Amino acid sequence: MDNEAPIYDNHGRPITYLRLSVTDRCNLRCKYCMPAAGINFLPREEILSYEELERIVRILVDLGISKVRITGGEPFVRNDLIDFLEQISRLEGLEKIALTTNGTLLAPHIPTLEELGISSINLSLDSLDRKRFEEITRRDQFKKVMETFHLLTESSIPFKINAVVMENQNTEDIIPLAELTRDYAVSVRFIEEMPFNGEGGNDSVLTWTHDKILDHLKDYYPDLEQIQAGPHSTSTNYKVPGYRGKLGIIAAFSRTFCGTCNRIRIDAQGTLKTCLYDSGVLNIKKFIRDGATDAEIIKLFRHTFANRAKDGFEAEQRRKENHNPIRESMSLIGG
Ligand code: SAM
Ligand code: SF4
Repeated sequence: MDNEAPIYDNHGRPITYLRLSVTDRCNLRCKYCMPAAGINFLPREEILSYEELERIVRILVDLGISKVRITGGEPFVRNDLIDFLEQISRLEGLEKIALTTNGTLLAPHIPTLEELGISSINLSLDSLDRKRFEEITRRDQFKKVMETFHLLTESSIPFKINAVVMENQNTEDIIPLAELTRDYAVSVRFIEEMPFNGEGGNDSVLTWTHDKILDHLKDYYPDLEQIQAGPHSTSTNYKVPGYRGKLGIIAAFSRTFCGTCNRIRIDAQGTLKTCLYDSGVLNIKKFIRDGATDAEIIKLFRHTFANRAKDGFEAEQRRKENHNPIRESMSLIGG
């Protein structure tokens, strides 16, 4: 089928970006993402096979998706990920393949990812202090992640750093992380913590909001300049004059960017989410395994996109009405 013009949701937003979680498993245990003991990881047969994933991506590309981000869990804990990337890199109409990773297993794959034309990598790094890194991730992998960071600075793949800002955990890292942009042409983005920690019960008020993070940066960099963000950007972007890289703040909890949201998610068990805050709006795996044709799946996607929540608050409200409060781990959703 020919690639179609982007499909629009019921609020007039084009849907052009898919975040695809290829596993819920991970080799770290970040506090904001899952409990120390991990989550009840999905049985293998509940995770979409590469063939199923490839079929879904192909159908969505035909419907106008032009960018796919591979995420998890940690995508590189899944065997044969590179073969899958190679497969989808051949899909006509798929302009960008991006990755989000904790960087612990990435280093040996960087040359292959360059060859495959991976368009960008988001590297999660919440602290530049080895001890704090270990406290947050509950694993002693700081050295490995920093090796990956340095290899990425030498590679041709553009990359960004994602840091979740947490009260009493890593606020002393905000400026050291921002200082990376002095010497490196990298974007460092600070993310508001969201309640997807695999436990639920996290109803406390968010202290480190985007406003507070911005004030903190401005205290240190009084001449911080705001710079233009792309049309579907989730971050507000800044630059310290004379520095090589950029800074960003992602109001993931305050949800200030829903009006231009172009993204959908498919979690590791094959559930479609048209908003990060919904509880899953279509079980694609079931239809695929029941033998649905491509045409039937396209019809389901179209119907679901036509019933998208206006914003993250409406999506969260809908799940509250269904007595389904947020308890899941980000490791299932993919961020
Ligand atoms: N394992 C990979 C990684 O950590 O980059 C990919 C999956 S991880 C779930 C994707 C992104 O979600 C990471 O940047 C992580 O920091 C972010 N994340 C996880 N839990 C979060 C939370 N509760 N609030 C905000 N961001 C979160
Ligand atoms: Fe793993 Fe990423 Fe979750 Fe950390 S944020 S536990 S690295 S999936």
